[in-house]
Parts: sequence; structure tokens; C-alpha cells
Amino acid sequence: VAKGAGRNRYSFFTPALQEAALTRARLATDLRFALGAQQFHLLYQPIVELATGAVYKAEALIRWQHPERGVVSPAAFIPIAETSGLIVEIGDWVFAQAARQVQQWRQSVHPQFQISINSSPVQFQHARTQSETWVQRLQTQGLPGECLTVEITEGVLLDSNAGVTAKLLEWRDAGIQVALDDFGTGYSSLSYLQKFDIDFIKIDQSFVRDLHAQSTNFTLCKAMVAMAHALGLQVVAEGVETAEQRDLLLQAGCDYAQGYWFARPMPAEALVDWVAARA
Ligand code: C2E
Ligand code: MG
Ligand code: MG
Ligand code: MG
Repeated sequence: VAKGAGRNRYSFFTPALQEAALTRARLATDLRFALGAQQFHLLYQPIVELATGAVYKAEALIRWQHPERGVVSPAAFIPIAETSGLIVEIGDWVFAQAARQVQQWRQSVHPQFQISINSSPVQFQHARTQSETWVQRLQTQGLPGECLTVEITEGVLLDSNAGVTAKLLEWRDAGIQVALDDFGTGYSSLSYLQKFDIDFIKIDQSFVRDLHAQSTNFTLCKAMVAMAHALGLQVVAEGVETAEQRDLLLQAGCDYAQGYWFARPMPAEALVDWVAARA
């Protein structure tokens, strides 16, 4: 065996990689019980209307309270849930929680309250698609589709098939809004925005991070807002951590923003008080 080839081959079995694969395998096993064991919960991050400071939107972000590992971030377990197909059940659970919550907040916080939930590409490819049942379940609860925004990523639109298109149309007919998450990081194509009747773009936090009056990112943010508005879409900025970033986004014409500057994702119980304290 040639030295180089051998080295390359063995590099696949370094202890670190083996450890990572093991962790992943264990998480995959544990994940199968997590839903039944009620180990998931949602945190909510307020989304602020920049021009007025009003809050009538929030994004639901899932957390997994692992019995031994503590809180596992979605970045670590959502990909595993996608591979195993569990994401469909988890996604349905997220939907059900969010629907219950938004019903409550439409009474206690704002009559037009709207919750955003994240939906990963794999959820669209499953035969047991949620759109039909989600729409039906909202109707059963007496909730208008407008109470829900589904955040998808460009990947969903890129390998779109008849099923994806049908589901997006069905959501639109039901009044459910669609946001394109992490906008600007993928193969953003202007034609997608109109073809699929997207309602919001969410400017990715990488554009917000180094936002200064003279920065390229400021130019890009202004361009994204202008383009979105020209197409009739609204804009949400993610990852706002400073007052300066907030001010520049407002100046750029951005409609909504969320980020640690306003609030970290919080338990549902905390949100009512948080909104009341701002008013
Ligand atoms: P995302 O949808 O783009 O969510 C934004 C992420 O940025 C969240 O991380 C949020 O906690 C974090 N964030 C918010 N404000 C700030 C800030 O000012 N600075 C910084 N540095 N970060 C901020 P999180 O909660 O860890 O979620 C990570 C990703 O996991 C999400 O990205 C989303 O893609 C996915 N995810 C979360 N919940 C769900 C879910 O219920 N279903 C699915 N399919 N994916 C989910
Ligand atoms: Mg999101
Ligand atoms: Mg994002
Ligand atoms: Mg629409």
C-alpha cells in the first residue's frame, strides 16, 4: 500500500471522527424516544416591527432537553432527525405547539399575533405531507392561516417538484405565509421569489454581523430590501445584536428585526411580560 494512499485511508478513522460518529449514532437512538418522553420544548424570539417598535410576531425555536447531555441545539439534532425521517413527527409537534400558543397570544398579546415555525427540506419530501393536515388543523381550531408563517430555505425551492409547488399553493390559499430563511446565503434567485409567492425574506445574520454605515453589508442590506419591496415582499433581519445594527436596518427600509439586542429566545411564559414591559 502506498504511503500516501494509506495515510488518506486511515485519516477516515481518526479518534475524533470516530467519536463524532458515535455521538451522532447515540443521538439518533435517543432522538427516537425524545418526543414520547416530552424532551422537546419551544423557545420564542420576538420579532419587532422596526418603524414602530411593535411586537406581534415571534419565531418558535426548538430545544431538546437531553437527560444526560443537557440542552442540545437544533443545529446538532435537526440534521439527524432529517436523515432518520423523524423530522416529520417533530415538525408536526412544533406545529401543534405553535398553533396552541398563537391562539393564546391572539387573546393575551395582540389580536393579529403571528408565529413563525421552521420547516426543513426533508419535511416537504415525505408522502405524509403536513400541509393538508396543518391547514385542516388550523380550521378545526378556528384559527386563520394568517396566524402562521412557515420559514423555508432556498434549498426547498431549488429542488422543488410538483409536491412542493402544490403545498406552497395550498398554504397560500389557506392564508399561511411563507418566509425565505437565511436569505442571501444560498443560490438566491429573484425568479423564485415571485414564482413561489413568498411573503417575507429573512436577511441572514451574516449580513447583519458586520453592519456599519460604510460597509459592503450595508449596501447589500439596502439592495435586498429594495429588491424585496419592489417585488411586494416584506423583510425581516436576523441576528441584530447592537443598536447601530438596528438603526442601519431601519435606515435601509427593513420592516422587521429580531436578535439578542431586542431579546434572546425565551420560554412562552416570559413573552407576555416582555411585551408588556416594552409598551
Ligand atoms: P434560524 O431559523 O435561522 O434561526 C436563527 C438562529 O439564530 C436561532 O438559533 C436563534 O436562536 C439565533 N439567534 C437569534 N438572534 C441572534 C443574535 O442576535 N445573534 C446570534 N448569534 N444568534 C441569534 P437556534 O435556535 O440555535 O436555531 C438554529 C437553527 O435550527 C435555526 O436557524 C433553524 O434552521 C433550525 N431550527 C430551529 N428550530 C427548528 C424547528 O422547530 N424545526 C426545524 N426544522 N428547524 C429548526
Ligand atoms: Mg428561522
Ligand atoms: Mg436564519
Ligand atoms: Mg403570499
